[in-house]
Amino acid sequence: MTIERTLSIIKPDAVAKNVIGEIYDRFEKAGLRIVASRMEHLSAAKAGEFYAVHRERPFYNDLVAFMTSGPVMIQALEGEDAIAKNREVMGATNPADAAAGTIRADFAQTVDENAVHGSDGLDTARAEIEFFFGNDGVCPRTR
Ligand code: GDP
Repeated sequence: MTIERTLSIIKPDAVAKNVIGEIYDRFEKAGLRIVASRMEHLSAAKAGEFYAVHRERPFYNDLVAFMTSGPVMIQALEGEDAIAKNREVMGATNPADAAAGTIRADFAQTVDENAVHGSDGLDTARAEIEFFFGNDGVCPRTR
């Protein structure tokens, strides 16, 4: 077990449903601590850069349009095996495949509006946290 940090985004569909608090509750009950948090309405340029890895995918333009359709809540989460734990709490990419009790099963209906983002590995977690919070935007939990 190692203490990791991961980047989480509550996407515009879930922000619009007003379930930020319920989703934060899932993180905290899973032992994940919020160490940075900000609401932001992403520009197309910023959303496009964040999802640049998907640039060649057929859904890229739809994804950028969705991610800029309203504000998102961006947070860095910390805890033991935080990257895998967050992915577990999120559920599968397609809500139809997401296990019962996961965020995507409970708060999303379709793959194109699936409530949350979570980093998928150590390198992406580091890069994604820096993308949104820079070098000094994360607050160590000193108690
Ligand atoms: P994730 O790591 O579980 O978020 O999944 P991926 O990295 O594979 O995909 C990134 C995001 O692209 C997903 O969370 C969806 O929002 C979106 N996405 C993936 N597949 C599709 C699709 O077939 N259509 C649309 N519109 N969006 C998709």
